[in-house]
Amino acid sequence: MKNLIKELGGDFINLFFSKLCLDCMNVMIPTEKNICVHCQLQLPFTYFHLQENNPIKQKLNIKQDIRQATALSYFQKNLQNFYKE
Ligand SMILES: [Zn+2]
Repeated sequence: MKNLIKELGGDFINLFFSKLCLDCMNVMIPTEKNICVHCQLQLPFTYFHLQENNPIKQKLNIKQDIRQATALSYFQKNLQNFYKE
């Protein structure tokens, strides 16, 4: 019962203060964070794990001796809109 009230309260708040995707600015569903699934699926992969000295490793090596570092995908706000134009 307590969870139902909490869930209904959250839904009521989302009705007036919806979370928006940082990229496409569409309303996100409650399980999404920061960017929507649609935008996540369109993010380009970095393939940094295939590069010995990739940009992430270079940035982290400044502070510590890092053996490996990677990032899954690139993200820049409105990057997908940039590709569409
Ligand atoms: Zn989106």
